[in-house]
Order: sequence, then structure tokens, then C-alpha cells
Amino acid sequence: MDFTMTAAELRFRDELRGWLAVNPPGVAPMGDEASFDFRRAWQRRMYESGWVGIHWPREYGGRGANPVELAIFNEELGRSGAPRFANTIAIEMGGPTIITHGTPAQKERLLEPILSAEEIWCQAFSEPGAGSDLASLRTRADRVPGGFRVTGQKVWTSLARQASWCMMLARTDPDSQGHRGLTYFLMDMQQDEIEPRPIVQATGESEFNELFLDGAYVSDDQVVGEVGKGWRVAITTLMNERAGLALAAQVDVRRALDEAKRQVVLSGRMDDPLVLDRLADLHVRAEGLRLQTYRGLSDIERTGAPGPSGSLAKLQWAAVNQAVAEFTIDLLGPAAVGADSPEMYRYLRSRANSIEGGTTEVLKDIVAERVLSLPRSR
Ligand SMILES: Cc1cc2nc3c(=O)[nH]c(=O)nc-3n(C[C@H](O)[C@H](O)[C@H](O)COP(=O)(O)OP(=O)(O)OC[C@H]3O[C@@H](n4cnc5c(N)ncnc54)[C@H](O)[C@@H]3O)c2cc1C
Repeated sequence: MDFTMTAAELRFRDELRGWLAVNPPGVAPMGDEASFDFRRAWQRRMYESGWVGIHWPREYGGRGANPVELAIFNEELGRSGAPRFANTIAIEMGGPTIITHGTPAQKERLLEPILSAEEIWCQAFSEPGAGSDLASLRTRADRVPGGFRVTGQKVWTSLARQASWCMMLARTDPDSQGHRGLTYFLMDMQQDEIEPRPIVQATGESEFNELFLDGAYVSDDQVVGEVGKGWRVAITTLMNERAGLALAAQVDVRRALDEAKRQVVLSGRMDDPLVLDRLADLHVRAEGLRLQTYRGLSDIERTGAPGPSGSLAKLQWAAVNQAVAEFTIDLLGPAAVGADSPEMYRYLRSRANSIEGGTTEVLKDIVAERVLSLPRSR
């Protein structure tokens, strides 16, 4: 990737910087509901000025931003302290999946309310018996006139209580196994046959849920791609998840590390060799992550789609983000303990990083086989 900014890219950066200076994001409050409302309002403000989904094609409401502009966008938002958009799942995963596989009617109906945060999306892939081995999922969709009735249980469904739409994978061929016979649906969440039950996390929040489906209806025009060929569509969603989220997440790591550095200075420990050793190590790893996410952008520039190297960035991010959070807790000691301590929140939340979006162990398998071309283990 060429890191030199063109005149157009510099103009893009300055325009965004100028906008953020006039529209400072403020600080998101603690607590999942308050934080969600704040992030939704922030997304709406940015949407009104055309700053949401900038990597989407112009015809679908984006700006057709190139990879360098996307990197600039994330860096500038990070510098300003802006929170993540409330509808990140849809902007990074759902929208790009519809743009790739959706019908013209689906694009027309669904894409704009994603950007405006009018309709929040969730993703119901995981099940109690199908996480890493997603293709073993058992939720079934039975044919009925005009569509399907879906029965089964999903789990870890983030934002299921706030969502209007859900990307959902179910088995439409009851005799099938593995990735064959699955169909990718967009499920309307406003139905009595869908019951989300919140799960409390270590942070005290209930970001995700169990999801019970008892004959939920999906119509034929809510199928994405072809019936029985949902696996291909799901892979598009997962590839976009790893590439898109790592890009924003590496900026969060940098921000947390800068804050840790500030704490080192404030605590008068800039001459402690053990502290400096850890700080230097984290700095090198954070820079490695930044360059890895940029490499992922180069893949997109070259091939038009995120490749398996997004898996490498995702697992690097989980490790370095957890290490920065641990370092901060070690620095602050007892001062970090407390229900409303943002450092303790970050530390507890970071424990999920090596599980969500693909576990570190499974991503290492993908990197070994698909990036390094090592022999397959299975
Ligand atoms: C904060 C958070 C948010 C989430 N949000 C969503 C969401 O919105 N929608 C959704 O569908 N899912 C969501 N998930 C679920 C997530 O995708 C799964 O937790 C993840 O895929 C792992 O699946 P599992 O929990 O069933 O663990 P398992 O797959 O049962 O894995 C258990 C352990 O075995 C290891 N393991 C499994 N297979 C292998 C292998 N082949 N080689 C080596 N080790 C292996 C794993 O690494 C792990 O340590 C979320 C998870 C978290 C933590």
C-alpha cells in the first residue's frame, strides 16, 4: 500500500477534520442502553453530513471511499475520541452482504435505513452447539406458502433487543449436513415468535442475548442469495466482519495505549525500566497491528473483497488490546477497581476479544491454511 496521500486524500482528511472540529462527538456514557442511544445519535449526526458508510458505493449512499480514505477516516475518528456507530454490524457486515448478494428490491428497501441508524441490525449465526463450527447449525426453516417458518435457538446475538432486522442462517434442507442446505435470511425482528433473552456479561452489561425462534416467519423476498446456498453469503458477512472491524479497532488500541502512556507520566514512572519495557513492547505490537490492517486494505484494493488476511489482523488485535488493558490495570492498581472505572470496564470487555468474531485458535487455523498455505490439519 502506498502511504503517501494524494492531494484529493489530503482534502478529504482536512474536510473531515474540519467537520469534527465543529461537531465534537463528546464522551459516550457508561451503561449499555445509555451508550447505545448516544452512539445512535452520533451516527445520525454523521449520516446527515454524509459521513456514514463512506466505503459503500455512491449509488447506495456511500462516498465510494478508497482504502486510503477509509484508513484516514478511522484515524481521524480515533483522534477525535468518537464512539463506534450504533449500527456497526450493519454498516460493516450486513450492508456489504446485501450490496454483493441482494436483489435490487432488497437494496432499495434496506440500505439507507442502515446508514441513518433508523433500522438497527443484528446477526444470529451462532447456536449453543454451533459457534466455531458454524456449519453444524441446526435451526431449521420449513417451507410454508410465501416463505418459511423458522424454529430453533441462537445465542450470543448482539443487539437482538434493539434490532429491526437480523441476518440469520438456518437449514432449509432437513436432510443436509455441514454447509450444504443452509439459507441466509433477513428476518424481521418484530414478531411474537421471536424471544430475545439478555445474557449478563462480566462487565455487567447485556450486549448480547439468547434468541428463541418458535415459528418465526420469513418471506421469500427476505432470502439473500439462493435457497440452500446461504454458506457463500455467510462467508461474505464474516470476511467483512474481520476486515472492517479490525480497521476501527486498531485505532481504539492506539487511543488506549496513548492513555496508558499518559498514566505512566502522571504516576512519575517514566524512568522505571520494567514499565518502559512493557510500554515499548505494546507500542511495537500496536504499530504491527496498524500496518497489518493497512495490508488488509491493500487486499481489498487489489481484489475488490477482504481476504483471509483479515483473520490475522483480528487475532493480533485481540492479543494486543487485551495486553494494553492489562497493562493499564497493573499501572493503576487498586485505583482501577470500581463499578464506574472505565479502565476496569475496558479490561473486562477485552476478555471477549479472543472469542467474538472468531476465536483466536480458529483464526490461527485459517491463517495457517489459507494465508501461509500450510498442510491442513483435518
Ligand atoms: C462479545 C461477543 C459478541 C458476540 N456476538 C455475536 C453475534 O452478534 N452473533 C453471533 O452469531 N455470534 C456472536 N458471538 C459468538 C461468537 O461468534 C462465538 O462465541 C465464537 O464463534 C465461538 O463459538 P463458541 O462460543 O460456540 O465456542 P466453541 O466454538 O465451542 O469453542 C470453544 C473453544 O474451543 C476452541 N476450538 C473450537 N474449534 C476449534 C478448532 N477447530 N481448533 C482449535 N480450537 C478450537 C475455541 O477456540 C474455544 O476456545 C459473540 C461472541 C462474543 C464473545
